[in-house]
Amino acid sequence: MGRVGFVSLGCPKALVDSERILTQLRVEGYDLVDRFEDAEVVVVNTCGFITPAVEESLDAIGEAIERSGTVVVTGCLGERPETIMERHPRVAAVTGQADVTGVMREVRRLLPLDPAGFTGLLPLASEAGRPDTRAVKLTPRHYAYLKIAEGCNHRCSFCIIPSLRGDQVSRDAADVLFEATRLVAGGTKELVVIAQDSSAYGSDLRHRTSRYAERDVAAHLVPLVRELSGLGAWVRLHYVYPYPHVRDLIPLMAEGSLLPYLDVPLQHASPRVLRAMRRPGGAESHLDTIRAWRSICPDLVIRSTFIVGFPGETEDDVDMLLDFLAAAELDRVGVFTYSEVPGADANALPGHVPEDVKQERYARVMTLQQHVSTTRLAAKVGRVLRAIVDDYGTLPGEVVARTEGDAPGIDGVLRCETDGTVKIGDLIEARVTGSDAYDLTGTCVRTLPWRPAVPVFG
Ligand code: SF4
Repeated sequence: MGRVGFVSLGCPKALVDSERILTQLRVEGYDLVDRFEDAEVVVVNTCGFITPAVEESLDAIGEAIERSGTVVVTGCLGERPETIMERHPRVAAVTGQADVTGVMREVRRLLPLDPAGFTGLLPLASEAGRPDTRAVKLTPRHYAYLKIAEGCNHRCSFCIIPSLRGDQVSRDAADVLFEATRLVAGGTKELVVIAQDSSAYGSDLRHRTSRYAERDVAAHLVPLVRELSGLGAWVRLHYVYPYPHVRDLIPLMAEGSLLPYLDVPLQHASPRVLRAMRRPGGAESHLDTIRAWRSICPDLVIRSTFIVGFPGETEDDVDMLLDFLAAAELDRVGVFTYSEVPGADANALPGHVPEDVKQERYARVMTLQQHVSTTRLAAKVGRVLRAIVDDYGTLPGEVVARTEGDAPGIDGVLRCETDGTVKIGDLIEARVTGSDAYDLTGTCVRTLPWRPAVPVFG
């Protein structure tokens, strides 16, 4: 009785929502099953950001209906029920993104549990006596995403996240820190901090303080990161908007409190295109910012994403982007061709770029960036770098690890020879012996102890 299947799609932020829903399902006594055929209800947590993601979500809903029958849809696409019901009128219920209460209400309605039959209650209190909002993790035990805010106060013209998720709502610093403490106590070695715009964290709360470990901690990224770094795990930042105050974080990287890694989606280098995107800066200011960061922390690894083929983009704009990428020498770059998102303001802009031109621009940018990436990774050959072990390799004694400059799931890896005693989650030092356009190879020099957490209770 009470068998629920779950499909989780989309970005790490959606993954955290899935973890919360799964936790609540377990807490209420539902059995989580991993085959559609065994499920009495299937919950599909969807992504609705760009057209291919919408299609993937609609396909997943269709498959769940066909193979199981009763389907509850939640997530970003759940904010557009008409799109879902038009394609799949047999969907049993639709709720919006991050709506744990709504999903639970619908699951309870569709699949009421016998109150006498509870079997799987999870403990819900953390060490600090705070409610634990996430006991089920979908990531491996040694790393976890830590969501510090929902929503976004920007209004980029190509993006519908603010209309789906609303304006930014930050969590109090103490809530984030209690969750992080519990994760680290449970074996997490790397905390990956996420939000739509991590650098704006706390602005909606006017950076108010909350009580953690007998001190007041402001809801601001710099003090939050300082506290997180005391837990003894790696702390990595994602989705940082290029505000001037991001510079305050770089000394924390230089002193080793925060991984020397920044994921800063710049989206373009042409001021004209950026204006049309309603985003700040341009090639010159981007370069000034990056040079200033690297002067404080020379080992800083920068990841960014760019959109080519935005409406109105000219060949001059593309040249400006290529010149910028050659000068900036970013370590990791994701490139996307512009695609219309239903409801986005950019759809109404003039000068839409034909698909074949978008693809040709994409290929040019990728070719240049592959060259940059190859050169930057080759410069690491011979160095000894710290890395966290994610998995075992295919060769005897080989492990798949990530250096401090590689985020899980999106960046490259370090394939490393070891003596066979190294385990998943271990921190190692490895000598880099080879490289290609994306990955490194190396030899393990030694295993390092994880830094003990600074005691925070009592
Ligand atoms: S910063 Fe821009 S692209 Fe990112 S979520 Fe906010 S509106 Fe969307």
